[in-house]
Amino acid sequence: MTVTTNSEAETEEAAIDLAATLSPGAVVLLYGDLGAGKTAFTRGLALGLGVDAADVSSPTFTIMQEYRGGRVPLYHVDLYRLNDPREIEDLGLDEIAADGVLAIEWAEKIDGAGRYGRATRVRITHGEGDARTITVSGLTNP
Ligand code: ADP
Ligand code: MG
Repeated sequence: MTVTTNSEAETEEAAIDLAATLSPGAVVLLYGDLGAGKTAFTRGLALGLGVDAADVSSPTFTIMQEYRGGRVPLYHVDLYRLNDPREIEDLGLDEIAADGVLAIEWAEKIDGAGRYGRATRVRITHGEGDARTITVSGLTNP
């Protein structure tokens, strides 16, 4: 599925739609340059799951943030600052996130591990101005 959005709010809307289809154990891998809208999309996932999304931002010093209070917990990971594959391994993401939806920004950093064969992949690319093209592929649930 491919959609083009023209504002941050529209990107959130696209994510809200996806969130409605997600159940515990679902993994959403996010790809795209800095400023593409990965965090905005994750905020939409939070909204869609019923989590208070006001404070969904890129986790700068913490690798992972957990948002509860919604239909399903949301675990938000940003791998931007992680470069050592072992460090990523040590996060133990698989166990942590089994009961919720796991959203991972900069997922290209773990693609080599081939561990998320059943994930939903969200690729966001910049167009002119505020235009973004969002392509969603793969299974939505484990
Ligand atoms: P990333 O996490 O991919 O680095 P962010 O979601 O943090 O990106 O930032 C996206 C930036 O682009 C925000 O400043 C947002 O307001 C802006 N923006 C403009 N148009 C869009 C759009 N169509 N979708 C998402 N973000 C947009
Ligand atoms: Mg981000």
